[in-house]
Amino acid sequence: MKIRVLGAFGGEGLAHRPSAFLVNDRVLIDGGSVPAALTVGEQLQIDHALVSHCHLDHVAGLAFLAETIACCAEGQRVTIASLPPIVDAMKHAVFNNIVWPDFAVIPPGAPAVGYRALGEGVEHVVSDLLVTPVAVTHTVPTSGFIVHDGEAGLVYSGDTGPTEALWKAIRPHHNIRGILLECTFPNRLGDLATASGHMTPALIAQELPKLPPDTPVWIYHIKPPFFEETAMELERIGGGRVSLLEQDKVYQL
Ligand SMILES: [Zn+2]
Ligand SMILES: [Zn+2]
Repeated sequence: MKIRVLGAFGGEGLAHRPSAFLVNDRVLIDGGSVPAALTVGEQLQIDHALVSHCHLDHVAGLAFLAETIACCAEGQRVTIASLPPIVDAMKHAVFNNIVWPDFAVIPPGAPAVGYRALGEGVEHVVSDLLVTPVAVTHTVPTSGFIVHDGEAGLVYSGDTGPTEALWKAIRPHHNIRGILLECTFPNRLGDLATASGHMTPALIAQELPKLPPDTPVWIYHIKPPFFEETAMELERIGGGRVSLLEQDKVYQL
């Protein structure tokens, strides 16, 4: 499995792009940044986008990807897939003809965007991957994903505070080679993290015993203004098991 990190952050800043990960060139996990990190040709290879939730730092790039497809690839579409409330939110809050055109009807007859609701806790075939969505703990309906290509798997936390169901759902899965886990704020903003459904390094230290042992934990989603402070705090937890996902890097699992 190949994972290309298009954006590794929970916001936007100089050289910091919002969260987006491209699996095997065809499936996005979140789309906070897409055209900002890919050529037009690379964008047109994408056929599905797994969306954890509809916050802008996870979907802004999908708005622009839809425009690229509508303009440059007649008859092609990206299918947005997630738990039902998240798919509904994408229809009503993003592609709603107010903040952005409804690319589910544009171009007429061959729209650039499609939708697919996925049942929770069930494994679905999505493009050439097997995907299990599991609800996590955030301020709006949000899904984590277990993603497998038949040989190797990964777990993506989505935006979440401390949670249970996702870690429980991993247990029957073999060959999980990495856990992409959010961390948003430094420890001194723990109250804000709790109120907004996010992790700090201290909360992650408490979460680690729930995760499968010996599996690398790759951190993404730090808010750019707090990057250095949070990264330093993360270095002190996990005994070498926790590291930062590097933007623009390609990971082979
Ligand atoms: Zn976020
Ligand atoms: Zn969020």
